Amino acid sequence: MAKIFLHTSGCSFNHADSETITGILLRAHHQFVASEDEAELVILNSCTVKSNPEQRLHATMRRLSRERKKFIVAGCVPQADSANKLFSHVPVLGVNALDKVDELVNLTLAESEQAFNKELFLSSTQQDMLRFPSSRLHPFREIIPLNAGCLSSCSYCKTKDARGDLFSYDPRLIRNRFRQAINDGAKEIWLTSQDTGAYGLDRETNIARLLSLLLEKEGSFRVRLGMTNPTYVHRFQDELIKIFSHPSLFKFLHIPVQSGSNSVLRRMKRGYRVEQFVNIVKAFRKADPLITIATDIICGFPGETEKDFDETLKLIDKLEIPVVNISKFYLRPGTQAEHFEQHNSILIKKRSTALAALHKKIALRSQQPWKQWQGSVLVCEKGKNNTLIARNDWYKQIILQEGILGTFQEVKVKTVYPFDLRTF
Ligand code: SF4
Repeated sequence: MAKIFLHTSGCSFNHADSETITGILLRAHHQFVASEDEAELVILNSCTVKSNPEQRLHATMRRLSRERKKFIVAGCVPQADSANKLFSHVPVLGVNALDKVDELVNLTLAESEQAFNKELFLSSTQQDMLRFPSSRLHPFREIIPLNAGCLSSCSYCKTKDARGDLFSYDPRLIRNRFRQAINDGAKEIWLTSQDTGAYGLDRETNIARLLSLLLEKEGSFRVRLGMTNPTYVHRFQDELIKIFSHPSLFKFLHIPVQSGSNSVLRRMKRGYRVEQFVNIVKAFRKADPLITIATDIICGFPGETEKDFDETLKLIDKLEIPVVNISKFYLRPGTQAEHFEQHNSILIKKRSTALAALHKKIALRSQQPWKQWQGSVLVCEKGKNNTLIARNDWYKQIILQEGILGTFQEVKVKTVYPFDLRTF
C-alpha cells in the first residue's frame, strides 16, 4: 500500500471530491502523508476556473517530473481539456471517475501503460459520488456535494466543460450522508455545487425541499448553503425564505450576480436580469433584515463600458452588499468569451480597485448593527496570532482569543472591522 500526498485547489465542490478520493483510498489501505517528500505518489486535484491555478498546476507537473516523483492529475483541468498534449503521458483522473482512483494509483505505481488510458479514467458519464466512501479532511466540517454541473452555459465559464450539465444527486443519499456526518460529530455542514439553486430541477424537486428534508434532523450543528445563481430561485423563493428561518441553517445567502448591467449579463449568458437579483435580495431581507448576502462580481468583462461598470457600483452601493467576491475578468481558452474583444489589464485592475474600495466602505457600514452583539457562535477554525475564527447564525466572522474548536460558545462583540467582528 502507498504513501500518498493529496493537494486540492479550487472550490468546496473540489474539496468534496478530495474527501471522496481520500475515503476510497483509505478503504483500500493506502496512507495519506502531510508532505510531498514523504509521499510515494502525489495526487493534484486541480481547478480550471481561472488561468492562475492552471499555470501553477503545469509548473508543479514539470517540477514533479524533474524530481521523478510519481503523480496523478485529477479534477477540472484535465476533464475540461482532455485533448491537451500535456496530459498525453500523465495519469489523469476525471471528475466522473473518482471511484477508479485506487485502480489508477496501483497502475501508476506499477508504471503500467494502462495508467494513461484516458477512456477509462476520463469518462464524461456523471455519477452519484455519494455512493462512494468519503473521509472528512476537516475535524468537524463535512462538505456534501448536491449536484454536479448546472443548467447554464455562461460565455466565460470553463467549469462547464469539466462538470457538464446538471446531474442532481439522490436526495436519500444526501440525507444519509448528512445524518451520518452529524452522528459522526460534524458541527458544520457545507452543501455545495456549481449552482445549488438548480438542485433537483432534473428530478422534480428543488433545493428548498431538500433543505426541509435534511433539517428534519435534530441536533446542534449549522448548515451553510453554497452559492446559488439568481436564475431559478424565483421558482421556490417563498419555500426557501421559509426554510431559512430554521435555527440550524446559517442566515447566509451566496448569490453571484457578476454584473449590475443587463447588457453585460446578456453577453455573459447568465440567464437572468439585474432586477431578478434585486428582488431576491429584498425578499430575503424582508424576512430577515440581518441576513448576510454575499455576491460575486467579474470586473472588466469584454464589452463592459464605463456606464455598465457604473451600474455595477450603483447596484452594490444601493443594496449595501456586505460580502463581495471580486474577480478580474480572466480569459479561458475554449470559452465563447475568448473570442470577444478584450479590455487591457490596466483598465480591468482600475475597475476591480474601485469596486474593492467601495466594498470596504459598505462592509464597515454593514458591521455597525453588530457592535456589542451578544450570542452563540460556532468556533470553526484557527485564526492568525493564536486567535480562533467563529461564525454566528448570520455567518458573521467573529475573532476570539479563546475557545474550543468545534463547540458553540457565548460571546460578546467588542470591536468591529470591515471584514470581521472581534471579542477583544
Ligand atoms: S452556472 Fe455558469 S459559471 Fe457556474 S458552472 Fe455553470 S456555466 Fe459555469
